Amino acid sequence: MEAEYDSLNVEFTIACNQFAQVGGTDHFSWSELNDGWDGGNEPVHSPWGYIVQDLPGMLENLRAIAVADTFLNIPSLPLSSGYRCPVGNTNVGSPAKTSSRHMAGDAVDISTRQLWGTLFESEWRARYDKLKDHAKSVGFDLEDLTFDSYPDHHLHLRID
Ligand SMILES: [Zn+2]
Repeated sequence: MEAEYDSLNVEFTIACNQFAQVGGTDHFSWSELNDGWDGGNEPVHSPWGYIVQDLPGMLENLRAIAVADTFLNIPSLPLSSGYRCPVGNTNVGSPAKTSSRHMAGDAVDISTRQLWGTLFESEWRARYDKLKDHAKSVGFDLEDLTFDSYPDHHLHLRID
């Protein structure tokens, strides 16, 4: 795995002994955090992956706040990406081929389209902003992220 980081010129690497085959929490399975999305990691790596220690707990905290928020009106938080190996990161078309934090195990994506994509865009946008505020409140680093940062309007959650 370290060789893969080198061969694709990733700006950092993850030590071999940090990779795990199991993990996850009550509401976020290892597969969901690691490789269970369309076009994700190479099967050869599955179920090996890496997620920083604090992240699953922060996601659980965010989920608890979000499902209790009647304005958001959601049953769960669907992840559309989590840890990506360098080849998987390239395969999903990430514009950040050498720097995506998904390869560092400290970023996950929430599909707001799956949650609110059938609403009018103004309503979708308002809920995105509310979920973003909740994410900030549990400690995620959202920098300059906005509804318009990505064409599919996913919420890119990262820990700095
Ligand atoms: Zn992302």
